[in-house]
Amino acid sequence: MNNDNKIIGHIHSHETFGLVDGPGVRYVVFLQGCRMRCQYCHNPETWALSGGEEWTPEALLQRCLRYRPYWKDNGGITVSGGEPLLQMDFLTQFFRLAKGQGVHTTLDTAGNPFTREQPFLGKFETLMQYTDLVMLDLKQTDPAAHKSLTGWDNGNILDMARWLSDHSKAMWIRRVLVPGLTDDEGELSGLRRFVDSLLTVERLEILPYHTMGLFKWEKLGIPYPLDGVEPPTEEQIKKAETVLGIQN
Ligand code: SF4
Repeated sequence: MNNDNKIIGHIHSHETFGLVDGPGVRYVVFLQGCRMRCQYCHNPETWALSGGEEWTPEALLQRCLRYRPYWKDNGGITVSGGEPLLQMDFLTQFFRLAKGQGVHTTLDTAGNPFTREQPFLGKFETLMQYTDLVMLDLKQTDPAAHKSLTGWDNGNILDMARWLSDHSKAMWIRRVLVPGLTDDEGELSGLRRFVDSLLTVERLEILPYHTMGLFKWEKLGIPYPLDGVEPPTEEQIKKAETVLGIQN
């Protein structure tokens, strides 16, 4: 919020024609700020918790609605990041307004801020009233591997998936596949078992690691931890899909 008590969002960037960020064609808003430090992050410039363009929910929705003709029956708006749950007041108001216009809303999150403590949980419950779909990026199910990959524990993230399942919220679970890092067969089997224990997962999908964000690390002067790691081959993707029981 700013000094006039207006809710202001800090936006890193926009994508007007997203095709891989939820159902159909989407307007994707990337919010500024993330506390995780995933070794393969392709948006490290979103990490800073301040900065970005300032938008009101009303103005942002007006901009999104200009693209509505592209959404047809199943498209809509996706908010990604960064980590959108770090700007929950803004996000909730934005989605509330979008639902008022009948727009499908998707939250793309890694779940790091989730807790059952108040005031977070009460705000999250309200946000979920205006969220049609949660795309949860589950980096690792093994706690030690998750900490090594992101710098943070994953107990609260797995708990968020449980909460969403218990509250009948539709989910897509996504896994970035990095050869030698996130494609361990035991870990993938563990992910499958975890997904099978949830009631509301509509889709489990693999996002093959790519190096398109590498130049951003260089620009920021941060050493890239995965220097020399190549994207997965078709064969590696197929193998992971088999373990995960994904059929294309
Ligand atoms: S959660 Fe997303 S934005 Fe944050 S470090 Fe990981 S990949 Fe980057």
